[in-house]
Amino acid sequence: MVVFAVALPAAAFPAGLPPGAPAFPNPWAAFQNLSGCHMGEERQGLAGLKDYLSHFGYLPPPPSSSPFTDAFDEDLEAAIATYQRNFGLNATGALDASTVAQMVSPRCGVADVINGTSTMARNSSAAGAHGRHLYAYFPGGPRWPPFRRDLKYAITATSATSIDRSTLSDVFARAFAQWAAATNLRFAETASESDADITIGFYTGSHGDGEPFDGPLGTLAHAFSPTDGRFHLDAAEAWVAGGDVSRASSPGVVDLESVAVHEIGHLLGLGHSSVPEAIMYPTIRTGTRKVELEADDVQGIQSLYGSNPNYRGVTPTSPATSSREMDSGAGAGLRPDAVFVGVVAAVGLLLAP
Ligand SMILES: [Zn+2]
Ligand SMILES: [Zn+2]
Repeated sequence: MVVFAVALPAAAFPAGLPPGAPAFPNPWAAFQNLSGCHMGEERQGLAGLKDYLSHFGYLPPPPSSSPFTDAFDEDLEAAIATYQRNFGLNATGALDASTVAQMVSPRCGVADVINGTSTMARNSSAAGAHGRHLYAYFPGGPRWPPFRRDLKYAITATSATSIDRSTLSDVFARAFAQWAAATNLRFAETASESDADITIGFYTGSHGDGEPFDGPLGTLAHAFSPTDGRFHLDAAEAWVAGGDVSRASSPGVVDLESVAVHEIGHLLGLGHSSVPEAIMYPTIRTGTRKVELEADDVQGIQSLYGSNPNYRGVTPTSPATSSREMDSGAGAGLRPDAVFVGVVAAVGLLLAP
């Protein structure tokens, strides 16, 4: 984690560019001007950073009568410290360069903190109760009920993307297969939206769910917790849907399958993980591919749905999180038809070069 974070400042933007002039647009680039800012200061742009932190759950939304100001107050310091703990950074509460570099990284639009509770278990008591794993659920532990283990998905909105339909079918089938392999869940594409449990679409800007997309980079995609089933992708991203994304010649390219595997985790009930190697980590580097479940992802999904006896992939490594223990932990959070269905608006996360 530390290594990853330290590497970020250099990687956040392509080398050789003057400050403030990224080769491709980044909606959060202005945050770089806030590097070095700390408690007690007032600096133009801090209000925007507060909006960002509020969007991902680190600050409550401001009352409409008094929008955020540019003052670096105690609430902002505490919010930054929580963010830093979630991403394995030094929890100083100040805007050091590594923190700013992480913040401008492209990411999933799903919030890291929901209703005041961090879903990234690094700093939550849930991590200690279950052992050393760092995966998390949405509040209330919503999941697909036992009588819905065969889930159908429909690719419903593709007019905003130039990726052809059969390529999309292949990409999403491979992404769902990662989760099916580790569990007893089965997924199949259907052409009928009305028949689908899950719908997948590409959208630009505002698209009716209160979570507008922001153009290239920034927020890449988001998905809703069970049993909502909506999975939205920002059509403005430079998606790569086939071939080797690391060989793409343009900057700012994002691997579609990698993002799809992550968002499917949300559709199934997983929140964000603090493990940088995990699929459920909130950010992803541009030009990189990350489609294999990590042990943390496997533990998380199997504690919600049970394991697949034929699974030959990553196996949980921590004796502290035996399946028996995880099952009991999951049971505690899984009331019949958890009331949280649909409450969680997602926002997402993947990130920069
Ligand atoms: Zn996410
Ligand atoms: Zn949406």
